Amino acid sequence: MKKAALVSLLLATCMPTAALAEPLLLISIDGLRPGDVLEADKRGLSLPNLRRLLTDGAHASGVTGVAPTLTYPSHTTLMTGVSPAKHGIVANNSFDPTGINQGGWYWYAQDIKVPTLWEAATKAGLSTGNIHWPVSVAAKGVSWNLPQIWHTGHPDDAKLLDALATPGLKAELETAVGQPYAMGIDESLSGDQLRGRFATALIAAHKPDFLTVYLTALDHEQHGVGPDTPQAKAVLEKIDAIVGDLVAAERKAHPDAVVALVSDHGFEATHTGLNLFRAFIDDGLIMLDKDGKVASWQAMPWIAGGSAAIMLSRPEDAAIATRTKALLDRLAANPANGIAAVLDKATIAKAGANPQATFLINLQPGFVTDIYRGPAAPLVAPTPVKGMHGYLPGPAHLEATFLITGPNIAKGKDLGRIDMRAIAPTLAKAMGATLPDAQAAPVDLK
Ligand SMILES: [Zn+2]
Repeated sequence: MKKAALVSLLLATCMPTAALAEPLLLISIDGLRPGDVLEADKRGLSLPNLRRLLTDGAHASGVTGVAPTLTYPSHTTLMTGVSPAKHGIVANNSFDPTGINQGGWYWYAQDIKVPTLWEAATKAGLSTGNIHWPVSVAAKGVSWNLPQIWHTGHPDDAKLLDALATPGLKAELETAVGQPYAMGIDESLSGDQLRGRFATALIAAHKPDFLTVYLTALDHEQHGVGPDTPQAKAVLEKIDAIVGDLVAAERKAHPDAVVALVSDHGFEATHTGLNLFRAFIDDGLIMLDKDGKVASWQAMPWIAGGSAAIMLSRPEDAAIATRTKALLDRLAANPANGIAAVLDKATIAKAGANPQATFLINLQPGFVTDIYRGPAAPLVAPTPVKGMHGYLPGPAHLEATFLITGPNIAKGKDLGRIDMRAIAPTLAKAMGATLPDAQAAPVDLK
Protein backbone atom coordinates (compact mmCIF):
# COMPACT_ATOMS: atom_id res chain seq x y z
CA MET A 1 0.00 0.00 0.00
CA LYS A 2 2.81 2.42 0.80
CA LYS A 3 4.30 1.71 -2.61
CA ALA A 4 0.87 2.16 -4.19
CA ALA A 5 0.34 5.48 -2.46
CA LEU A 6 3.75 6.62 -3.66
CA VAL A 7 2.96 5.63 -7.25
CA SER A 8 -0.32 7.50 -6.99
CA LEU A 9 1.48 10.57 -5.69
CA LEU A 10 4.04 10.41 -8.50
CA LEU A 11 1.28 10.06 -11.07
CA ALA A 12 -0.56 13.01 -9.52
CA THR A 13 2.45 15.26 -10.12
CA CYS A 14 2.62 14.53 -13.85
CA MET A 15 -0.98 13.80 -14.85
CA PRO A 16 -3.99 16.12 -14.87
CA THR A 17 -6.10 13.63 -12.88
CA ALA A 18 -4.52 11.37 -10.28
CA ALA A 19 -5.31 7.65 -10.54
CA LEU A 20 -6.97 6.11 -7.51
CA ALA A 21 -4.76 3.59 -5.77
CA GLU A 22 -6.71 1.50 -3.30
CA PRO A 23 -5.88 -2.05 -2.25
CA LEU A 24 -8.32 -4.53 -3.78
CA LEU A 25 -9.87 -7.79 -2.65
CA LEU A 26 -11.53 -9.62 -5.57
CA ILE A 27 -13.78 -12.55 -4.65
CA SER A 28 -15.46 -14.80 -7.21
CA ILE A 29 -18.45 -16.99 -6.37
CA ASP A 30 -18.72 -19.39 -9.31
CA GLY A 31 -22.20 -19.45 -10.83
CA LEU A 32 -23.71 -16.70 -8.62
CA ARG A 33 -26.71 -15.12 -10.37
CA PRO A 34 -27.21 -11.40 -9.68
CA GLY A 35 -30.85 -11.94 -8.67
CA ASP A 36 -29.77 -14.14 -5.77
CA VAL A 37 -28.27 -11.04 -4.15
CA LEU A 38 -30.56 -8.32 -5.59
CA GLU A 39 -33.74 -10.28 -4.73
CA ALA A 40 -32.40 -12.27 -1.79
CA ASP A 41 -35.51 -11.73 0.37
CA LYS A 42 -37.88 -12.68 -2.44
CA ARG A 43 -35.90 -15.86 -3.07
CA GLY A 44 -35.79 -16.74 0.63
CA LEU A 45 -32.05 -16.26 0.91
CA SER A 46 -30.30 -14.88 3.99
CA LEU A 47 -27.12 -13.25 2.67
CA PRO A 48 -26.18 -10.49 5.14
CA ASN A 49 -22.60 -10.07 3.91
CA LEU A 50 -23.40 -9.99 0.20
CA ARG A 51 -26.32 -7.64 0.90
CA ARG A 52 -23.95 -5.32 2.80
CA LEU A 53 -21.68 -5.13 -0.26
CA LEU A 54 -24.78 -4.26 -2.28
CA THR A 55 -26.00 -1.45 -0.01
CA ASP A 56 -22.50 -0.07 0.76
CA GLY A 57 -21.37 0.13 -2.86
CA ALA A 58 -22.22 0.04 -6.55
CA HIS A 59 -23.60 -2.96 -8.39
CA ALA A 60 -24.51 -4.15 -11.88
CA SER A 61 -28.12 -5.20 -12.40
CA GLY A 62 -26.52 -7.93 -14.53
CA VAL A 63 -23.24 -8.72 -16.28
CA THR A 64 -23.39 -9.92 -19.88
CA GLY A 65 -20.84 -12.71 -20.08
CA VAL A 66 -18.58 -14.02 -22.81
CA ALA A 67 -18.85 -16.88 -25.31
CA PRO A 68 -18.87 -19.53 -24.02
CA THR A 69 -20.34 -18.72 -20.56
CA LEU A 70 -17.92 -21.17 -18.95
CA THR A 71 -15.76 -20.86 -15.84
CA TYR A 72 -12.26 -20.67 -17.32
CA PRO A 73 -12.96 -18.40 -20.31
CA SER A 74 -15.05 -16.09 -18.08
CA HIS A 75 -12.54 -15.88 -15.22
CA THR A 76 -9.82 -15.03 -17.72
CA THR A 77 -12.00 -12.25 -19.13
CA LEU A 78 -12.51 -11.00 -15.55
CA MET A 79 -8.70 -10.84 -15.24
CA THR A 80 -7.94 -9.31 -18.65
CA GLY A 81 -10.91 -7.32 -19.97
CA VAL A 82 -10.93 -9.12 -23.33
CA SER A 83 -12.99 -11.84 -25.03
CA PRO A 84 -11.91 -15.49 -25.12
CA ALA A 85 -10.94 -15.07 -28.81
CA LYS A 86 -8.30 -12.57 -27.68
CA HIS A 87 -7.14 -13.99 -24.32
CA GLY A 88 -6.91 -17.55 -25.63
CA ILE A 89 -8.78 -19.49 -22.91
CA VAL A 90 -11.59 -20.60 -25.21
CA ALA A 91 -12.96 -23.50 -23.13
CA ASN A 92 -12.49 -25.19 -19.74
CA ASN A 93 -10.76 -28.24 -21.18
CA SER A 94 -7.95 -28.10 -23.69
CA PHE A 95 -8.77 -29.67 -27.07
CA ASP A 96 -8.10 -33.38 -26.85
CA PRO A 97 -9.72 -35.26 -29.76
CA THR A 98 -8.18 -38.67 -28.98
CA GLY A 99 -8.67 -38.40 -25.21
CA ILE A 100 -5.02 -38.63 -24.16
CA ASN A 101 -4.98 -35.62 -21.80
CA GLN A 102 -6.94 -37.30 -18.97
CA GLY A 103 -9.55 -34.53 -18.93
CA GLY A 104 -6.94 -31.78 -18.55
CA TRP A 105 -8.14 -28.21 -18.12
CA TYR A 106 -6.62 -24.87 -19.17
CA TRP A 107 -4.79 -24.66 -15.83
CA TYR A 108 -1.69 -22.88 -17.12
CA ALA A 109 -1.50 -19.09 -17.24
CA GLN A 110 1.05 -19.30 -20.05
CA ASP A 111 -1.94 -19.88 -22.36
CA ILE A 112 -3.26 -16.36 -21.57
CA LYS A 113 -2.21 -14.13 -24.47
CA VAL A 114 -2.74 -10.67 -22.91
CA PRO A 115 -1.70 -9.00 -19.62
CA THR A 116 -3.70 -9.90 -16.51
CA LEU A 117 -4.75 -7.79 -13.52
CA TRP A 118 -2.00 -9.49 -11.50
CA GLU A 119 0.60 -8.23 -13.98
CA ALA A 120 -1.00 -4.78 -14.17
CA ALA A 121 -1.02 -4.51 -10.36
CA THR A 122 2.62 -5.58 -10.13
CA LYS A 123 3.53 -3.00 -12.76
CA ALA A 124 1.78 -0.37 -10.61
CA GLY A 125 3.99 -1.34 -7.64
CA LEU A 126 1.43 -3.44 -5.78
CA SER A 127 1.96 -6.81 -4.10
CA THR A 128 -0.44 -9.55 -5.21
CA GLY A 129 -1.88 -12.82 -3.97
CA ASN A 130 -4.11 -15.58 -5.29
CA ILE A 131 -6.18 -18.36 -3.79
CA HIS A 132 -7.45 -20.89 -6.36
CA TRP A 133 -8.38 -18.51 -9.23
CA PRO A 134 -8.83 -20.40 -12.51
CA VAL A 135 -5.93 -20.40 -15.02
CA SER A 136 -3.37 -19.30 -12.43
CA VAL A 137 -0.61 -21.94 -12.55
CA ALA A 138 2.68 -20.05 -12.96
CA ALA A 139 0.75 -16.80 -13.43
CA LYS A 140 3.07 -13.85 -13.90
CA GLY A 141 2.96 -11.05 -11.35
CA VAL A 142 1.57 -13.06 -8.40
CA SER A 143 3.66 -12.55 -5.26
CA TRP A 144 1.85 -15.25 -3.21
CA ASN A 145 0.13 -17.86 -5.36
CA LEU A 146 -1.90 -20.97 -4.46
CA PRO A 147 -3.08 -21.78 -8.00
CA GLN A 148 -5.94 -24.04 -9.02
CA ILE A 149 -4.68 -27.43 -10.21
CA TRP A 150 -5.62 -31.07 -9.79
CA HIS A 151 -4.74 -34.32 -11.47
CA THR A 152 -6.57 -37.41 -10.21
CA GLY A 153 -7.63 -36.60 -6.65
CA HIS A 154 -4.92 -38.95 -5.32
CA PRO A 155 -3.09 -37.56 -2.23
CA ASP A 156 -0.12 -36.89 -4.54
CA ASP A 157 -2.13 -33.93 -5.90
CA ALA A 158 -1.09 -32.06 -2.71
CA LYS A 159 2.55 -32.50 -3.78
CA LEU A 160 1.71 -31.22 -7.25
CA LEU A 161 0.32 -28.06 -5.68
CA ASP A 162 3.38 -27.78 -3.41
CA ALA A 163 5.53 -27.78 -6.54
CA LEU A 164 3.44 -25.18 -8.37
CA ALA A 165 2.60 -22.76 -5.53
CA THR A 166 4.89 -19.94 -4.40
CA PRO A 167 7.73 -21.81 -2.62
CA GLY A 168 7.01 -22.27 1.08
CA LEU A 169 3.59 -20.53 0.98
CA LYS A 170 1.38 -23.61 1.35
CA ALA A 171 3.34 -24.93 4.34
CA GLU A 172 3.42 -21.47 5.93
CA LEU A 173 -0.37 -21.05 5.67
CA GLU A 174 -1.04 -24.66 6.76
CA THR A 175 0.87 -23.88 9.95
CA ALA A 176 -1.08 -20.65 10.45
CA VAL A 177 -4.48 -22.31 9.79
CA GLY A 178 -3.61 -25.57 11.56
CA GLN A 179 -4.99 -27.77 8.75
CA PRO A 180 -3.79 -29.16 5.41
CA TYR A 181 -4.89 -27.09 2.38
CA ALA A 182 -7.90 -28.21 0.32
CA MET A 183 -7.27 -30.60 -2.56
CA GLY A 184 -7.56 -28.98 -5.98
CA ILE A 185 -10.25 -31.44 -7.10
CA ASP A 186 -12.42 -30.63 -4.05
CA GLU A 187 -15.37 -28.44 -5.13
CA SER A 188 -17.36 -28.95 -1.92
CA LEU A 189 -18.47 -26.30 0.55
CA SER A 190 -15.86 -27.52 3.05
CA GLY A 191 -13.22 -26.96 0.34
CA ASP A 192 -14.43 -23.36 -0.05
CA GLN A 193 -14.46 -22.86 3.73
CA LEU A 194 -10.89 -24.11 3.97
CA ARG A 195 -9.73 -21.89 1.09
CA GLY A 196 -11.48 -18.97 2.81
CA ARG A 197 -9.43 -19.64 5.95
CA PHE A 198 -6.24 -19.80 3.88
CA ALA A 199 -7.14 -16.50 2.21
CA THR A 200 -7.69 -14.78 5.57
CA ALA A 201 -4.37 -16.23 6.79
CA LEU A 202 -2.65 -14.90 3.66
CA ILE A 203 -4.17 -11.46 4.24
CA ALA A 204 -3.04 -11.46 7.88
CA ALA A 205 0.49 -12.65 7.10
CA HIS A 206 1.34 -10.69 3.94
CA LYS A 207 -1.36 -8.06 3.39
CA PRO A 208 -1.28 -8.33 -0.42
CA ASP A 209 -2.42 -5.09 -2.07
CA PHE A 210 -4.38 -7.12 -4.62
CA LEU A 211 -5.81 -10.53 -3.73
CA THR A 212 -7.98 -12.86 -5.84
CA VAL A 213 -10.06 -15.56 -4.11
CA TYR A 214 -12.16 -18.14 -5.97
CA LEU A 215 -15.05 -20.10 -4.41
CA THR A 216 -16.54 -23.02 -6.33
CA ALA A 217 -19.14 -24.89 -4.25
CA LEU A 218 -22.23 -23.01 -5.49
CA ASP A 219 -21.45 -23.94 -9.10
CA HIS A 220 -20.85 -27.55 -8.08
CA GLU A 221 -24.20 -27.71 -6.25
CA GLN A 222 -26.16 -26.06 -9.08
CA HIS A 223 -24.74 -28.57 -11.61
CA GLY A 224 -25.65 -31.44 -9.30
CA VAL A 225 -29.15 -30.51 -8.12
CA GLY A 226 -30.04 -27.41 -10.16
CA PRO A 227 -30.36 -23.68 -9.54
CA ASP A 228 -33.15 -22.44 -7.20
CA THR A 229 -33.03 -25.64 -5.12
CA PRO A 230 -32.97 -25.68 -1.31
CA GLN A 231 -29.53 -27.36 -1.46
CA ALA A 232 -28.04 -24.64 -3.70
CA LYS A 233 -29.55 -21.93 -1.49
CA ALA A 234 -28.09 -23.52 1.64
CA VAL A 235 -24.62 -23.61 0.06
CA LEU A 236 -24.87 -19.95 -0.98
CA GLU A 237 -25.85 -18.91 2.56
CA LYS A 238 -22.74 -20.68 3.89
CA ILE A 239 -20.57 -19.02 1.23
CA ASP A 240 -21.96 -15.67 2.38
CA ALA A 241 -20.33 -16.32 5.76
CA ILE A 242 -16.97 -16.97 4.04
CA VAL A 243 -17.35 -13.64 2.23
CA GLY A 244 -18.01 -11.95 5.60
CA ASP A 245 -14.78 -13.38 7.04
CA LEU A 246 -12.77 -12.34 3.98
CA VAL A 247 -14.09 -8.78 4.01
CA ALA A 248 -13.43 -8.44 7.76
CA ALA A 249 -9.83 -9.67 7.35
CA GLU A 250 -9.25 -7.33 4.39
CA ARG A 251 -10.67 -4.30 6.23
CA LYS A 252 -8.40 -5.08 9.19
CA ALA A 253 -5.32 -5.25 6.94
CA HIS A 254 -6.35 -2.38 4.65
CA PRO A 255 -9.07 -0.11 6.08
CA ASP A 256 -9.19 1.74 2.74
CA ALA A 257 -9.59 -1.39 0.59
CA VAL A 258 -11.94 -1.80 -2.35
CA VAL A 259 -13.85 -5.08 -2.21
CA ALA A 260 -15.28 -6.47 -5.46
CA LEU A 261 -17.52 -9.54 -5.67
CA VAL A 262 -17.94 -11.14 -9.07
CA SER A 263 -19.24 -14.27 -10.69
CA ASP A 264 -18.48 -15.82 -14.04
CA HIS A 265 -21.93 -16.82 -15.34
CA GLY A 266 -25.48 -17.69 -14.31
CA PHE A 267 -27.27 -21.04 -14.72
CA GLU A 268 -29.97 -22.78 -16.73
CA ALA A 269 -31.87 -25.75 -15.31
CA THR A 270 -31.26 -28.77 -17.58
CA HIS A 271 -32.97 -32.04 -18.53
CA THR A 272 -31.58 -33.43 -21.82
CA GLY A 273 -28.11 -34.36 -23.05
CA LEU A 274 -27.14 -34.13 -26.74
CA ASN A 275 -24.37 -36.59 -27.64
CA LEU A 276 -22.87 -35.01 -30.76
CA PHE A 277 -20.23 -37.75 -30.95
CA ARG A 278 -22.95 -40.26 -31.88
CA ALA A 279 -23.89 -38.20 -34.96
CA PHE A 280 -20.26 -37.59 -36.00
CA ILE A 281 -19.43 -41.31 -35.66
CA ASP A 282 -22.51 -42.35 -37.66
CA ASP A 283 -21.57 -39.86 -40.39
CA GLY A 284 -18.00 -41.17 -40.62
CA LEU A 285 -16.43 -37.90 -39.46
CA ILE A 286 -15.06 -39.71 -36.37
CA MET A 287 -13.53 -43.18 -36.84
CA LEU A 288 -13.24 -45.56 -33.87
CA ASP A 289 -10.86 -48.44 -33.22
CA LYS A 290 -12.00 -51.89 -32.07
CA ASP A 291 -12.04 -50.68 -28.43
CA GLY A 292 -14.37 -47.78 -29.19
CA LYS A 293 -11.63 -45.19 -28.86
CA VAL A 294 -11.14 -42.41 -31.42
CA ALA A 295 -8.71 -43.69 -34.07
CA SER A 296 -8.93 -40.74 -36.45
CA TRP A 297 -11.25 -37.82 -37.15
CA GLN A 298 -12.12 -35.24 -39.75
CA ALA A 299 -14.50 -33.19 -37.61
CA MET A 300 -14.77 -33.23 -33.82
CA PRO A 301 -16.98 -31.49 -31.23
CA TRP A 302 -15.11 -29.57 -28.49
CA ILE A 303 -17.86 -29.47 -25.91
CA ALA A 304 -18.51 -26.49 -23.65
CA GLY A 305 -21.61 -27.25 -21.59
CA GLY A 306 -24.43 -25.44 -23.40
CA SER A 307 -22.47 -25.08 -26.62
CA ALA A 308 -19.81 -26.88 -28.63
CA ALA A 309 -17.06 -25.68 -30.93
CA ILE A 310 -16.76 -27.86 -34.02
CA MET A 311 -13.15 -28.47 -35.03
CA LEU A 312 -11.97 -29.73 -38.41
CA SER A 313 -8.73 -31.70 -38.70
CA ARG A 314 -8.02 -29.81 -41.96
CA PRO A 315 -9.91 -26.50 -41.71
CA GLU A 316 -8.93 -25.62 -45.30
CA ASP A 317 -10.69 -28.72 -46.71
CA ALA A 318 -13.91 -27.28 -48.16
CA ALA A 319 -15.48 -30.69 -48.82
CA ILE A 320 -15.27 -31.73 -45.17
CA ALA A 321 -16.52 -28.33 -44.05
CA THR A 322 -19.55 -28.64 -46.35
CA ARG A 323 -20.26 -32.19 -45.18
CA THR A 324 -19.96 -31.16 -41.50
CA LYS A 325 -22.22 -28.15 -42.00
CA ALA A 326 -24.83 -30.36 -43.68
CA LEU A 327 -24.75 -32.72 -40.69
CA LEU A 328 -25.12 -29.86 -38.21
CA ASP A 329 -28.02 -28.38 -40.19
CA ARG A 330 -29.78 -31.77 -40.25
CA LEU A 331 -29.33 -32.09 -36.47
CA ALA A 332 -30.57 -28.53 -35.91
CA ALA A 333 -33.69 -29.18 -38.01
CA ASN A 334 -34.98 -31.68 -35.41
CA PRO A 335 -36.29 -29.75 -32.35
CA ALA A 336 -35.75 -32.86 -30.18
CA ASN A 337 -31.96 -32.23 -30.41
CA GLY A 338 -32.26 -28.80 -28.77
CA ILE A 339 -29.93 -26.91 -31.12
CA ALA A 340 -30.68 -23.17 -31.06
CA ALA A 341 -28.14 -22.01 -33.65
CA VAL A 342 -25.26 -23.13 -35.86
CA LEU A 343 -22.63 -20.39 -36.12
CA ASP A 344 -20.08 -20.08 -38.92
CA LYS A 345 -16.59 -18.53 -38.72
CA ALA A 346 -17.87 -14.96 -39.17
CA THR A 347 -20.51 -15.18 -36.43
CA ILE A 348 -18.04 -16.97 -34.12
CA ALA A 349 -15.61 -14.07 -34.58
CA LYS A 350 -18.37 -11.52 -33.94
CA ALA A 351 -19.18 -13.31 -30.65
CA GLY A 352 -15.51 -13.24 -29.58
CA ALA A 353 -15.66 -17.03 -29.27
CA ASN A 354 -13.23 -19.82 -30.16
CA PRO A 355 -11.24 -18.75 -33.26
CA GLN A 356 -9.96 -22.30 -33.76
CA ALA A 357 -13.48 -23.56 -34.49
CA THR A 358 -14.98 -23.80 -37.99
CA PHE A 359 -18.54 -23.98 -36.61
CA LEU A 360 -20.12 -23.53 -33.20
CA ILE A 361 -23.47 -24.87 -32.06
CA ASN A 362 -25.44 -23.18 -29.31
CA LEU A 363 -28.07 -25.23 -27.48
CA GLN A 364 -31.54 -24.29 -26.24
CA PRO A 365 -31.88 -23.74 -22.47
CA GLY A 366 -32.37 -27.12 -20.80
CA PHE A 367 -30.00 -29.00 -23.13
CA VAL A 368 -26.33 -29.85 -22.51
CA THR A 369 -23.61 -31.27 -24.78
CA ASP A 370 -22.54 -34.69 -23.51
CA ILE A 371 -18.98 -35.87 -23.07
CA TYR A 372 -17.94 -38.91 -25.13
CA ARG A 373 -19.38 -41.94 -23.33
CA GLY A 374 -18.38 -44.62 -25.86
CA PRO A 375 -19.79 -45.89 -29.15
CA ALA A 376 -23.09 -47.20 -27.74
CA ALA A 377 -24.34 -43.91 -26.21
CA PRO A 378 -27.48 -42.53 -27.94
CA LEU A 379 -27.78 -39.14 -29.63
CA VAL A 380 -30.31 -37.74 -27.13
CA ALA A 381 -30.99 -38.91 -23.57
CA PRO A 382 -32.06 -37.52 -20.20
CA THR A 383 -29.03 -36.05 -18.44
CA PRO A 384 -28.13 -36.49 -14.77
CA VAL A 385 -26.82 -32.89 -14.90
CA LYS A 386 -29.45 -30.59 -13.36
CA GLY A 387 -27.92 -27.21 -14.20
CA MET A 388 -25.60 -25.87 -16.89
CA HIS A 389 -24.03 -22.79 -18.49
CA GLY A 390 -21.61 -22.51 -21.42
CA TYR A 391 -24.31 -21.29 -23.83
CA LEU A 392 -23.76 -18.07 -25.76
CA PRO A 393 -24.34 -15.06 -23.47
CA GLY A 394 -27.51 -12.98 -23.68
CA PRO A 395 -30.33 -14.73 -21.79
CA ALA A 396 -31.02 -13.22 -18.35
CA HIS A 397 -30.50 -16.59 -16.61
CA LEU A 398 -26.87 -16.60 -17.75
CA GLU A 399 -25.98 -13.12 -16.47
CA ALA A 400 -23.14 -12.84 -13.95
CA THR A 401 -22.73 -10.70 -10.81
CA PHE A 402 -20.70 -7.57 -10.03
CA LEU A 403 -20.74 -5.77 -6.66
CA ILE A 404 -18.06 -3.28 -5.60
CA THR A 405 -17.55 -1.19 -2.50
CA GLY A 406 -14.79 1.11 -1.27
CA PRO A 407 -13.97 4.63 -0.11
CA ASN A 408 -14.43 6.33 -3.51
CA ILE A 409 -17.41 4.31 -4.73
CA ALA A 410 -21.02 5.51 -4.68
CA LYS A 411 -23.30 3.78 -2.16
CA GLY A 412 -26.30 1.98 -3.60
CA LYS A 413 -25.52 2.94 -7.21
CA ASP A 414 -27.08 0.74 -9.91
CA LEU A 415 -24.64 0.51 -12.82
CA GLY A 416 -27.25 -1.19 -15.00
CA ARG A 417 -26.32 -4.10 -17.25
CA ILE A 418 -22.58 -4.11 -17.95
CA ASP A 419 -20.22 -5.98 -20.28
CA MET A 420 -18.01 -8.51 -18.45
CA ARG A 421 -15.00 -7.07 -20.30
CA ALA A 422 -15.52 -3.74 -18.46
CA ILE A 423 -14.83 -5.29 -15.04
CA ALA A 424 -11.05 -5.79 -15.31
CA PRO A 425 -10.31 -2.22 -16.48
CA THR A 426 -12.63 -0.90 -13.73
CA LEU A 427 -10.70 -2.86 -11.10
CA ALA A 428 -7.36 -1.82 -12.62
CA LYS A 429 -8.39 1.82 -12.36
CA ALA A 430 -9.40 1.41 -8.71
CA MET A 431 -5.91 0.03 -7.98
CA GLY A 432 -4.15 2.79 -9.92
CA ALA A 433 -3.15 0.28 -12.60
CA THR A 434 -3.96 0.05 -16.29
CA LEU A 435 -4.96 -2.66 -18.78
CA PRO A 436 -4.35 -1.03 -22.17
CA ASP A 437 -5.53 -4.12 -24.11
CA ALA A 438 -9.01 -4.16 -22.51
CA GLN A 439 -11.89 -4.21 -25.01
CA ALA A 440 -14.25 -2.12 -22.84
CA ALA A 441 -13.94 1.14 -20.92
CA PRO A 442 -13.96 1.23 -17.10
CA VAL A 443 -17.38 1.68 -15.47
CA ASP A 444 -18.02 4.98 -13.64
CA LEU A 445 -18.34 4.01 -9.97
CA LYS A 446 -18.98 7.51 -8.58
ZN1 LIG B 1 -18.18 -21.21 -13.38
